[in-house]
Amino acid sequence: MREEIRKALQEIVGAKNCRDQLIDLVSYSYDASDHAKRPECAVFPSNTKQVSRIMELANKHRIPVIPRGAGTSLTGSVVPVMGGIVLDLCKMNRIIDVRIADRLAVVEPGVVYGQMEKELAPHGFFFPPDPASSQVCTLGGNVATNAGGMRGAKYGVTRDYVLGLEVVLADGRVMRTGTRCMKSASGYDLTRLFVGSEGTLGVITEITLKISPMPKAVKTALAHFESLEDAGKSVTDIMHSGIIPSVLEILDENTIGVLRERAAMNIPDIRAMILVETDGYTDGEASFQMDKIVEIFNRHGASFAKIAKTAEETEELWQARKSAGSVAAQLRPNNVSEDVTVPMSKVPELLTRISDTVRRYGLPFVIFGHAGDGNLHPRIMYDKSDPEQVEALERAVEDIFKLACDLGGTLTGEHGVGLAKAPFMHLEHDPVAMQTMKALKETFDPNNILNPGKMGL
Ligand SMILES: Cc1cc2nc3c(=O)[nH]c(=O)nc-3n(C[C@H](O)[C@H](O)[C@H](O)COP(=O)(O)OP(=O)(O)OC[C@H]3O[C@@H](n4cnc5c(N)ncnc54)[C@H](O)[C@@H]3O)c2cc1C
Repeated sequence: MREEIRKALQEIVGAKNCRDQLIDLVSYSYDASDHAKRPECAVFPSNTKQVSRIMELANKHRIPVIPRGAGTSLTGSVVPVMGGIVLDLCKMNRIIDVRIADRLAVVEPGVVYGQMEKELAPHGFFFPPDPASSQVCTLGGNVATNAGGMRGAKYGVTRDYVLGLEVVLADGRVMRTGTRCMKSASGYDLTRLFVGSEGTLGVITEITLKISPMPKAVKTALAHFESLEDAGKSVTDIMHSGIIPSVLEILDENTIGVLRERAAMNIPDIRAMILVETDGYTDGEASFQMDKIVEIFNRHGASFAKIAKTAEETEELWQARKSAGSVAAQLRPNNVSEDVTVPMSKVPELLTRISDTVRRYGLPFVIFGHAGDGNLHPRIMYDKSDPEQVEALERAVEDIFKLACDLGGTLTGEHGVGLAKAPFMHLEHDPVAMQTMKALKETFDPNNILNPGKMGL
C-alpha cells in the first residue's frame, strides 16, 4: 500500500481502524470458500461519511474496494482477487430504529442476523430469511447476496423484505433508494438492483427492512419413503393442497446412507426423507395444516410419518436434517456445497439426475435441501491436495450447473455467484442479459473498483 494512501485512510478512519500487518492481510484473504488472495489493507469505517470518503479516495486512485460483512461467503465473493482495500463493515452495527406500527426496522449493515432476531423477539416479530449462518452473518451481507434459508417456501428470501437502502456509490456519492412505506410505485426499483449485487455496485450503509409477526404455533413432522417418486409426488400434492409449509426439506438416499453409516442414526434403508413444518397463529391452525400434509404423505405410501408432540420429539425429528452437512463433510478433507434451484415440480428429477451424473466421478456426495422452494444442496466431498479429485469435482460441479439450467433453474438460490460461479453465468443468462449487467456495472462503477472480478462482470 502506498504511503500517501495509507496516511489518507488513517486520517479518515483513525490509525487503529486501518490495518495492514501480515496477520490482518492473511485474515482478510479468504472467506468460507476455497478461494484466497491477500488485500493491501483492511479498514473499519464507523459511519457513512467515512465510507463515502474512502470510496472517493479509492476511486481517484483506482484502488479496488471489497465491502465485507462477516466473510461467510461460500463463493469467494469477499476474496480480494485484485488486491486493494477490504472495507470491513462490522463497526457499523447499530439497530437504528424498530417501528412495529410501521412494520419496519432500520439498521446498519454490520448488524448480525442473530442480533436482529433477539431485538425483534420481545415485540413478537421476526425477519424471516434465516440463513443457516444466522449467528454470524450480517444483514449487509444478507442483502448483498439475497440470502435465504429453510423458511423460503412460505416466507421468501431477503429480497422480499428490503424496503429501502442507503448506498455509497463508487465515487463517494450517497444515494437513498426505496421507501419506508409498505408499497411504492415510484420510479425504477433501485433497491432491488442492489439486492444480490455482491458489493459490485455500491456499499450498503443503511437498510430499511420489512419485518413480520412471528407465528405463535409450529408443528413438525417427518416422513420416510421407499421411493423418491413417492416423495416427489407428496411435495407436488402439498403444493396443490393450498397449504404452504414453513419448512419442507428433502434428504436423498446418499444422505440417509451417510447418516446411517457414519452417525449410526436409527434410520431404515429408505430412498428419501421429508421434514416438514407448518405454523400459524394458533396451535389448532398449525395442527390442521399438518394433519392434511400427513394425509398426503400416507396417500403416497410413506413407510413412516410422525408428528412431534413435544419439544424433545421435535428435536429428534430435526436431527437427521441438522446433522446431514457436518456428517457428510467427514468423508473427505474438503467439500463444496452448491445451491442450484429449479421450479419445485422438477426437484425429484434434479435429485435423480444429479445423482446419476455425480456418481460417475467417483467422489462421495449427498443431496439435501429445500424442496419447498426448489433449492437443493448437492455437497461433494474431495481432497484438494489430489489434482485428480479436484478435476473430478470441477467437472461434477459444472455438470450440476448445466443440469439445473436445463431444467429451467438457476445456478444459485441463495449463496450468490462470487468467483465460484462467475464462469458459468452464461449458462443461465443470455448474451443480452449479460451485456445489460455489464452496462449497469459500468454505469455505477466506471473504474471497476467495487469488488472487481466477481459475478462474471
Ligand atoms: C455454515 C454456513 C452456512 C450458510 N448457510 C447459508 C444459508 O442457509 N443461506 C444463505 O443464503 N447463505 C448461507 N451461507 C452463505 C453466507 O452466510 C451468506 O451469503 C451471507 O448472506 C453472507 O453474509 P456475510 O455478512 O458473511 O457477508 P460476506 O461474506 O462478508 O459478503 C458477502 C457478499 O456481500 C458483499 N457485502 C457484504 N456487506 C456489504 C455491504 N454492506 N455493502 C455491499 N456489499 C456487501 C460482499 O462484498 C460479498 O460480495 C452460509 C455460509 C456458511 C459458512
